[in-house]
Amino acid sequence: MNRLGVLGWPVAHSRSPAIHNAALAALGMSDWHYQRLPVPPALLAETVRALPGSGFLGANVTIPHKEAALALADEASAAAREIGAANTLTFKADGTIAAENTDAPGLLEALGIPVAGLRAQVLGAGGSARAAVWALLGAGAAEVYVWNRTSARARALVEQLGGEAVEAPRSADLLVNCTSVGLGLERSASEDRGLNQLGLRGDQVGEYSYVADLVYRSASTALLAAAAAAGAHTIDGLEILVAQGALSFSLWTSREAPLEVMLDAARASPSRVPASD
Ligand code: NAP
Repeated sequence: MNRLGVLGWPVAHSRSPAIHNAALAALGMSDWHYQRLPVPPALLAETVRALPGSGFLGANVTIPHKEAALALADEASAAAREIGAANTLTFKADGTIAAENTDAPGLLEALGIPVAGLRAQVLGAGGSARAAVWALLGAGAAEVYVWNRTSARARALVEQLGGEAVEAPRSADLLVNCTSVGLGLERSASEDRGLNQLGLRGDQVGEYSYVADLVYRSASTALLAAAAAAGAHTIDGLEILVAQGALSFSLWTSREAPLEVMLDAARASPSRVPASD
C-alpha cells in the first residue's frame, strides 16, 4: 500500500483526504490511500521520520506545522525556502525528505489569468499571505499591496518578500483574501461585519476585476458574494485548495491530477470548520 496523508493539529476539518482519495479512485490507483495524520507539534519530527518506514510516500502539511515541516526537511525548493513554509513533503527512495510549497503555484493555477503586469491587493500577513505575495511577485505582478489588521506584520512581510504595506486596501486589478475572516459566519448575518474586518467598504469590492478568497466553506463568503454582485470574476477557496492539492498529488504520483473529480469531492465534503472570526 502506497500511503499519503495530511499532517495537522487539529486536522479533523481537512477536506484533503476526500479530495485525494477521489483522485486516486478516479485513476484506478487502488493500492494508494490518503489519510488524516493528527500530530501535536511536539511529536511532528518524530512522526514524520517514521512515516517513510510505514509506506508513506508523501504528506501535505497544514496548520500549525508548515514552518516546522520546512525546518525538518533534508532539502527544500526555492518556493518553500523563500516563503518560509512547506505544505508538501515527499519521502524519496534514498530516505531524504523534500519540502515543497504548492500553495503559491496553486493560487496562480486557480486564478487562471496572466498575472504579469497586474496590480494586486493581498489581505492578511500570515502564512498564506506570504505564499500569495511570493507567487504574485514571482509571476510578474506590477504592484502587490499588503494590508493586514496588525499593520506591523504587513510591514515585516514586505520587508522580507517585497510588495508594499498599505494602511487601507487599495484599488487594484486583483484582490486576494488571505485572512481567516469569513470562515465561520453565515453570510446573510455578517456581510457588513465580514467586509469591515477586511478593511473594505461594500462598494469598494467593485473596484477589483478578480477577487479570490482563500477561505473555504460550503457557502459563499461575504467577500465573494459582494464581488460577484459587483460583477467581478471570483475564485473560491475550494478551487485554490484543489489546485495546490493537485500539484502535490502529481509530485507524489507522477500522474496528472483529475481536477474536476477533486473539485467535486471538495464541494461534496462536509464542512467541519469551526467558527474562528
Ligand atoms: P494565519 O497565518 O493564522 O493568518 C491569519 C490572518 O488572518 C492574519 O493576517 C490575521 O491578521 C488575519 N485575521 C484573523 N482574524 C481576523 C479578523 N477578525 N480581522 C482581520 N484579520 C484577521 O493563517 P493562514 O494560514 O494564512 O490562513 C488564512 C486563511 O486561509 C484560513 O482561513 C485558511 O483556512 C485559509 N487557507 C486556505 C488555503 C486554500 O488552499 N484555500 C490554503 C491556506 C490557507 P493578524 O495578523 O492581525 O492577526
